[in-house]
Amino acid sequence: MKALVYHGPRQVSVDDVPDARIEKPTDVLVRITSTNICGSDLHMYEGRTDFEQGRIFGHENLGEVVEVGDAVDKIAVGDMVSAPFNVSCGHCENCEHGLTNYCLRANEPGLAGAAYGFADMGPWPGGQAEYLRVPWGDFQCLRLPEDAREKQDDYVMLSDIFPTGWHAVEMSGMKPGESIVIYGGGPVGLMAALSAVTRGAAQVMVVDRHPDRLRLAEQIGAIPIDDSQGSPVDQVMELTKGRGADRGCECVGYQAHDPQGNEDNADTLNKLVSSVRFTGGIGTVGVFVPQDPGGPDELSQQGKARFDFGNFWFKGQQMGTGQAPIKRYNRHLRSLIAADKVKPSWIVSHDLPLDGAPEAYKRFDAREDGWTKVVLHPDQTA
Ligand SMILES: [Zn+2]
Ligand SMILES: [Zn+2]
Repeated sequence: MKALVYHGPRQVSVDDVPDARIEKPTDVLVRITSTNICGSDLHMYEGRTDFEQGRIFGHENLGEVVEVGDAVDKIAVGDMVSAPFNVSCGHCENCEHGLTNYCLRANEPGLAGAAYGFADMGPWPGGQAEYLRVPWGDFQCLRLPEDAREKQDDYVMLSDIFPTGWHAVEMSGMKPGESIVIYGGGPVGLMAALSAVTRGAAQVMVVDRHPDRLRLAEQIGAIPIDDSQGSPVDQVMELTKGRGADRGCECVGYQAHDPQGNEDNADTLNKLVSSVRFTGGIGTVGVFVPQDPGGPDELSQQGKARFDFGNFWFKGQQMGTGQAPIKRYNRHLRSLIAADKVKPSWIVSHDLPLDGAPEAYKRFDAREDGWTKVVLHPDQTA
């Protein structure tokens, strides 16, 4: 089958690789019809992780079931399904408690949590390929309704970024009628904004510096804040009468940098602490890593940050962290899409065949204007 393979920093190509296949009786084999390029793929693409050469990217996957193992009971051939990016077994202690983001059986012993095509998240090949093996298929696959094919650019957001944005808002503790500031207007930040709007925020502010992203934020009723035009903290304070936002979301991650291009992994976290009110809450879903050998200084290389803990403690704020448990939300968010209450595909700028992936990685990585979200369709030819 064809798949997008990583060959080293900023080098990917569509190669012929051995077909994905049923390996265990609980597996489901999916023919991928939609698979996204994610911002977290870029950390790996840039060589800022220990993602192994020869592996396949892709953790935001949707497709049609073409084969099921003997022990698969619920999912059937022909079903259109969304596969959460978290690979999870369904019956370990963490999965039983709904913490499928920290499954104890899908990664090597001692590590919790796994994902398709992801550094340090287990051996699972990614779905930027013609076929994907989904382990524990009955537990993993979320079936999609009749309109799955026509609305796949919406439903494909269920595997990661829509639930991840929702989780960021959830962890912030936001209640209807509150204000929220979101740092990062990339796909996850925009999904957090969509989630906050849907959940009844009185005021949603999105901080970024790319005009295309800020325009998308504005389209759903969020207030765009351009941090290249002045301190975003000052702008948030002005918009909240000097009080600060009730809640905040971190949707950037460890490669955060200021508008001048200086990288500082604590930059968005510290600005959030300053932008959020006393006793407010922060949800951090941007990716941070325990080691970052390519980091700009010794501290960041050790996975540490110059975090303003004093200010954070002084303000009595709360923070939630970590990858999102997709299965906690994807069923209900599917229903919101099916009922036309939300349309997460509004951020999609490009629908491309798999052959277009190497070029798309280059442009998305360069944050080229107009490349806001790429959906690959391995079942289509150029
Ligand atoms: Zn993702
Ligand atoms: Zn588990």
